[in-house]
Parts: sequence; structure tokens; C-alpha cells
Amino acid sequence: MFKAMDFYIQAFQTLQRSPSSVWPESVLGKAPYKPILLLAVMDLIEEGTITTNCIRLTPTLTETFERYWQCVVPDRSYNIGMPFYHMHNEGFWHLIPKEEKSKVGIQNPSTAQIRKKTDGARLDQELYELLQENQSRDRLRTALVRSHFTSSVQAELHGVSNTTLRIYEYSRWLIEQSQKGERGKKMATRQVQIREAGFRRAIVDLYNHQCAFCNLRIQTPDEHTAVQAAHIIPWSEKQDDDLRNGLALCGVCHWTFDEGLLTLGDDYRILFSDHLHAPTHTIGALKDAEGRIINTPNPSELKPRPDTIQWHREHVFWDV
Ligand SMILES: [Zn+2]
Repeated sequence: MFKAMDFYIQAFQTLQRSPSSVWPESVLGKAPYKPILLLAVMDLIEEGTITTNCIRLTPTLTETFERYWQCVVPDRSYNIGMPFYHMHNEGFWHLIPKEEKSKVGIQNPSTAQIRKKTDGARLDQELYELLQENQSRDRLRTALVRSHFTSSVQAELHGVSNTTLRIYEYSRWLIEQSQKGERGKKMATRQVQIREAGFRRAIVDLYNHQCAFCNLRIQTPDEHTAVQAAHIIPWSEKQDDDLRNGLALCGVCHWTFDEGLLTLGDDYRILFSDHLHAPTHTIGALKDAEGRIINTPNPSELKPRPDTIQWHREHVFWDV
């Protein structure tokens, strides 16, 4: 066991990273992809999102990767497909080919290519088991952070890891509260980022990344999703993070709803303000939405609370 630990600590410390002048001093002038991907994977193992030795390129993995990325190289764009693919050269990361016995060869690894050709990746079983234990996971995380980043960003990277876990805990907590039939309490003491991201993650998952009004569901190759989490009664009014005060809406529907040109009836049908029918408007996909019952989440008990949609009709909707 100890031998395995030392082996993987060394493997993490000696990850191959290409040097280039585009990378700042904080990442030692080398591409930071691989250590960031491993940090993100470790966070998802710790929070219990990755529960088997099969790592998939999910929106949550990309989101977690991006939080680390923003922390160290916010000015540069990234492609998570790069480290997901090239990590296989490190020996402990194995791509799972879609077709058995075939080898995965990808010229320009994009997320789309990874998903087309693989069923994800698995770690050496010994490494996967080490990552299940808090103590060994922390040692590996520390080894990564110390070897690949300067001390100026190390504390911040540990902070990102805490944020990831707290976002997850908050999103779980919100779901539990809803199941108990309790309202989300005021969370003024929590950091804004955790509160917003936790609410967003819970709502977007609940509605399966689909707009409740117009059915739009689009994700970019790197798993960014077109829907946003809308508060029905704005947070500024009642600080109500109950998931039943939320809706997953695309950008257009979110804006139209917040502006009060759309609202919901007690029967969950979409109501149009007369202003939406103005002859100068072109409302595109929304045209067919009037009178339709919205998509409700799974489980359906988490659909919007009647008092929230009533409040929206009374306070936001352009009734005349
Ligand atoms: Zn929409």
C-alpha cells in the first residue's frame, strides 16, 4: 500500500506538461491542463459524484475544471478534451474505447471526439482506491498543487476545492429541504458564489438541462448548457432558494419571464402578456408556447410552488 502511494505521488509530481511562453509564472510556464483535470476528478470523487472507476466527461466535471482554470489562467480559453485524452500517456489513466479491443486514437481531442470514441476513462485500480480515502487523497492533492503551481496560487486552489464541495453540499441540502417540504432558509452568511452556483446546479439538473417554457435544450461540446436557473420570486425580494421557487429557463425565456411578459397560471399553463403580441415583435420559438403546460421537473413535487407563481402574476406580470 505504501509503495503504491509513493508511486502515485511521484507520478503526479512528474506529469508531462508542455512549456510555452503563453503560460504564466503561476503555472511554472507550462500547460496546466493535466493537474487541473486531476484536481477536478478528485473533488468529484470526494463529493461522491464519481462513484465508480469510470470517469466521464460530464457537465459537472467541466464546470469543476473551469473553476480551477479561472483561478489560475482566467485569460485563456481551454479545451478539457486535451488533458482527458493526453493523460493516457501518464500510465495511470486508461481511455475506455467504445468498441471493444480497438485503440483510441484521436488527432485533435475535443469533447465531442472523446464522447464519440470513448466511454470515458478509468484509473489504475490502486490509484482509484487510494483516492477513496481522505488522507491519501489529500496527500495526492497537495503533491499536485505543490509541484505544478507557485505558492502564490496554492492557497486559492485549495479554496476552489472547498468551494466545489460546498456548492455540492448546498445543492444537496436544497434538494433535501424540498423533499422535507421545508422552504430554503435565508442563506445570507453563505458566500454568494456558493449560493448561486448551488441553486443553479440543483435547478438545471432537476429540469434535465431543458427550458421549462420553450423546450430548448442545447449543450456546447464542452458541456456548457443553454439553460439558466431563474428565481420566480427574485432572490432580492424574499431570499427564497426553495427549489420550488425556481425554473430552468433559456436566456430568452428567462428575460421574458423576468420582464413580466410571460407568467404562469395556477394550472402551470404559460400566460402571455398582451404586450407580447405587439405587431413589431418577432417571438420565434415562443410563438407556440402560449397556453401550453410547462415542463415540470422530475420529481414533479418540486414543480413551482403556487404562491410563487401567484406572486409573479401580481408583482411582475404586465397584466394590462
Ligand atoms: Zn426557453
